[in-house]
Amino acid sequence: MASKRPAPRVASAKRKAAPAAPPSPEDLNPYDFAQRQFDRAADHLGLNAGIRDVLRNPKRQLTVSIPVKMDNKRIKVFTGYRVQHSIARGPSKGGIRFHPGVTIDEVKALAMWMTWKCAVVNIPFGGAKGGITVDPKKLSMDENERLTRRYTSEISILLGHDKDIPAPDVYTTPQHMAWIMDTFSMTQGYSTLGVVTGKPISLGGSAGRNEATAEGCFVAIEEASKRIRLSLKGATAAVQGYGNAGMHVARFLDEAGARVVAVSDSRGGIYEKHGLRLDDVNASKEKKGSVTAARGQKISNAELLELSVDVLVPAALEGVITRENAPRVRAKIVAEAANGPTTPDADDILRRNGVVVIPDILANAGGVTVSYFEWVQDLYSFFWDPDVVRSHLERTIRRAYEDVAETARRHDTDLRTGALILAVGRVEETTRIRGLFP
Ligand code: NAD
Repeated sequence: MASKRPAPRVASAKRKAAPAAPPSPEDLNPYDFAQRQFDRAADHLGLNAGIRDVLRNPKRQLTVSIPVKMDNKRIKVFTGYRVQHSIARGPSKGGIRFHPGVTIDEVKALAMWMTWKCAVVNIPFGGAKGGITVDPKKLSMDENERLTRRYTSEISILLGHDKDIPAPDVYTTPQHMAWIMDTFSMTQGYSTLGVVTGKPISLGGSAGRNEATAEGCFVAIEEASKRIRLSLKGATAAVQGYGNAGMHVARFLDEAGARVVAVSDSRGGIYEKHGLRLDDVNASKEKKGSVTAARGQKISNAELLELSVDVLVPAALEGVITRENAPRVRAKIVAEAANGPTTPDADDILRRNGVVVIPDILANAGGVTVSYFEWVQDLYSFFWDPDVVRSHLERTIRRAYEDVAETARRHDTDLRTGALILAVGRVEETTRIRGLFP
């Protein structure tokens, strides 16, 4: 056994400076940072420990095994989740994500953000989210359908127009929503339009739902730029993630006279300093499956985030702006079309650097707002004209922005914490008034 030797005594003046301990890695688990964001708001509101515990944890979480007969006749089992964070203010609402990176913690975070998002825009829903750990690009259309239908059947004990209402999210589309509606309806024996939103128009979908997330995000960008006296005409913008949210935000910015200089998707990005031609980008995405085949200089997703632009729109996945790259973000406005793209440490850095971050629960709330309109239309079987949807959406987002900005001003804090104080306060009030059963 090695004897324990006393540590050599070194005169302090001669002692060499110990190498700095490596910084502890930043926690990139979205559920942890959703909870850290919540704690900040709860501190501002002075919530007691009991109510914090209620609001900080999901109400229900379901993990399901989804056996699917693949085209080669073999059976493959996938794992899926549905988490309901809160039903305090109404049925729970939230999208369904198909992605290889889906985990229970990601779904829990996304469900919690849905609760706050619905409360920020003051619609009568709680928050939920679902997902399957799968790369849907590797499945045929028939396999996608069988996967969606079996998943719907496995989580159907939670679903219903007055219980829990899914919608599209990453790599799910109106077609997936149609399969969900049909599968659920088959088990009921009648057609239930209101069980899911984001459906095709011919199946009880709403006008304007497809571009609603982006339209709400664009309205929020307009509000933010007004306040910092930035004219969108001639401003520069970069969009990470050219999907449902990102593609339409790019279009709205382009139509407002901004120069969209960079866009990206999972395969990388392209940059053109005079502004990309979006019809060329769309053609590239449609024909080649990626924006990277469009005209422009190739850049990486990481480089896109650090471009010198007026408006940066992360519209892909969580945790992309971290404490490592946040000091190099040069945008004046970061509009979070994606859920959870900025970590709490990165938030602090951006705030110190004077970057206006429009938080996800406000910036992308247009999607759930028009999903709410779709649900109302389905329940009434009375469908609105596109301009009615648009004007209600615009009014909802402008009012929410003003409420959030006012709350942030009152609490002398940033927009994210302001949005959370507003939202958590509303959910806390309902929870308190309802009281605790039994
Ligand atoms: P989508 O599937 O339509 O598009 C996702 C896009 O992101 C695709 O272009 C994909 O190639 C790209 N992408 C995937 N991984 C990437 C990566 N690692 N780096 C860069 N790009 C990547 O999904 P969507 O519905 O547009 O959702 C995007 C984000 O917006 C998600 O965070 C989602 O939660 C959020 N969101 C969507 C809605 C909605 O109504 N669809 C509503 C609110 C929030």
